[in-house]
Amino acid sequence: MTMTVCLCRLPALLEARKAGLRVTLHGGEVPGRSEEAMQQLAFHPDRLGHMCYMEDRVKEALLASKIPLELCLTSNIKTQTFPCFQDHHFQEVFLAKHPLVLCTDDSGVFHTSLSQEFAIAMNTFGIQEKDVQRLVAESIDYTFASDAEKLELKRCLLPRLSQI
Ligand SMILES: [Zn+2]
Repeated sequence: MTMTVCLCRLPALLEARKAGLRVTLHGGEVPGRSEEAMQQLAFHPDRLGHMCYMEDRVKEALLASKIPLELCLTSNIKTQTFPCFQDHHFQEVFLAKHPLVLCTDDSGVFHTSLSQEFAIAMNTFGIQEKDVQRLVAESIDYTFASDAEKLELKRCLLPRLSQI
């Protein structure tokens, strides 16, 4: 379940959690919504998306939370959240060693692929192949798959990554 949250949806989110669903919340895509971002963090979703606009208190809360953050480079450019890839907060989150998952947001809408997003990250921020391998391995840990499925994903994907 992925959605941008407002407080009016909190009962539904709590119900979803009670039913055993994992929750991703996307937010911080427009400026001036720090209170909403703090509420999203207080809900402590399994994953967060975007969080492009963060006042210091939001940034501190996010980094302290260790909630994996989905970053969608092309999406944030095409929606004009950032003027260019160089200005994207990927680098800041990456250097802070915060759990992050490179995503496409919606590959059909934003006409991108995960491979393209990694290529952009490598070309823009200079991340290396070993960083890509680590990010992919950690991303598997942050999926909503079962432990057995995560093991299978790692068994299938990680040997291929070491060949790039
Ligand atoms: Zn989104």
